[in-house]
Amino acid sequence: MPQVQLYDTTLRDGAQREGISFSVVDKLNITRRLDELGIHFIEGGWPGSSPKDDEFFKKARDIKLTNARLVAFGSTRRHNIKAAADGNLQSLANAGAGIVTLVGKSSDLQVTQVLETTLEENLAMVSDSIGYLRPKGITVFLDAEHFFDGYKSNPEYALQVLRVAGEAGTECLVLCDTNGGALPAEVTAAVAAARKVTDVPIGIHAHNDSELAVANTLAAVDAGASQVQGTINGFGERCGNANLCSIIPALKLKMGIDCVTDEQLANLTEAARYVSEVANLIPDAFLPYVGASAFSHKAGLHVSGLSKWSGSYQHIDPAVVGNKQKMLVSELSGRANIVHRARELGIELPAKSKEALELLEKVKLLESRGFQYENAEASFDLLVHRAKADYQKPFELVDFMVIVEKRRRPPAIKSAEEMLSEAVVKVRVGGEVMHTAAEGNGPVNALDQALRKALLRFYPSLSAVRLVDYKVRILEESTGTESAVRVLIESSDGIEQWRTVGSSANIIEASWLALADSLEYWLLKQR
Ligand SMILES: [Zn+2]
Repeated sequence: MPQVQLYDTTLRDGAQREGISFSVVDKLNITRRLDELGIHFIEGGWPGSSPKDDEFFKKARDIKLTNARLVAFGSTRRHNIKAAADGNLQSLANAGAGIVTLVGKSSDLQVTQVLETTLEENLAMVSDSIGYLRPKGITVFLDAEHFFDGYKSNPEYALQVLRVAGEAGTECLVLCDTNGGALPAEVTAAVAAARKVTDVPIGIHAHNDSELAVANTLAAVDAGASQVQGTINGFGERCGNANLCSIIPALKLKMGIDCVTDEQLANLTEAARYVSEVANLIPDAFLPYVGASAFSHKAGLHVSGLSKWSGSYQHIDPAVVGNKQKMLVSELSGRANIVHRARELGIELPAKSKEALELLEKVKLLESRGFQYENAEASFDLLVHRAKADYQKPFELVDFMVIVEKRRRPPAIKSAEEMLSEAVVKVRVGGEVMHTAAEGNGPVNALDQALRKALLRFYPSLSAVRLVDYKVRILEESTGTESAVRVLIESSDGIEQWRTVGSSANIIEASWLALADSLEYWLLKQR
């Protein structure tokens, strides 16, 4: 067994984040993914609290887990009733999970002010509830709610709760920073105090309200905690929970704690993005370790340093966590970025060569006209390819026309007034010129449809490509007499995503440029 066990609560605490709602299928899929990632405990939800959670536990029995064990979450018995008479505890016992995490109060003020019962009754609630589940063969972890606040207001009582839970047979005492207000030094001191009163393993469950959830978790591990609770991407109520995507690499790479295998760690970035996608949230590019920009380098000096020594401007090798280094190409950067990017594309472009200089000049000129390549690496890659003398375009535009019309129709037709968009496109592929027309939902869509119609005859596999995002920005800073429009398009073939850019005083032309780049880029990759 590893020295530190990973406990994921994305499916329970993580789902408390505003805007997240996992279906049962989502939860089952995430469970499989977490298992692959090497998580030791997966908290699936609160049986008895909602039909969704009940269904999850029923279906989760059929999942074959290799690394992880499933955990059900619930509360200690209500006050002044018997544990056996508590419906919640019965649901927990019947959920079929071999482990139950019970949340119990460990702060005197929470007991008297919120629970409105006596300190003695709360101790009895903790020990009775554990005593009810244990004989059923269930392993019990205690989530000591508000432990760090409780340790401040009444340390004797907070520690007494741990002692009582330990004597009742809990197998882990998880100290919770429920309000997320603790500081790392406070966590260290409180964990050390807890270890003095009990031999039961200590866990940590930190919230991120002070942006210290990861720091507090690592401080707890330093002080001897052996179970860390958190969520993927730090999802959670308010400002979130401790982010396992930062904790796992910190434990493994920086603290030498072998909590996952090298292969599992190399899947971290993919798992983080997968969970974001399932949550229907755009993956945060600026997350440490797993964000798309976590290893992006813009300044020319950094790029030239990195090309000499990969450790010069980054704290770890991004590949270790499954991420990638990214050199941003922008007017701020120099030849080093361009040479580096060309090399990644398999094109040798010596830094002092005429081609490298010309390409840099071209990028600068285009950027002054409103193009921006930082976020449109596919368009930049095409610039590099086009710089080669022998480059052959997969297709070439001859001309296009777009008509947008507002028509009045008889009221019997479902929408009396309708916008019509139609595009006519002429493209050359090899020696042949294709002439197509298509209607669309808006002018850009019509253009997209007409262009595809023309190209599908030559490249049937192009049907896999679809637009996933289309962004327009008006550029105040453009130097021309009229303001320019920048269009950014994100495309996907179901496996990979790429971004292209177009800029012009005319929104249709800007859209066309980005659109044509997107298809050209994909066709180029298929060669
Ligand atoms: Zn929590």
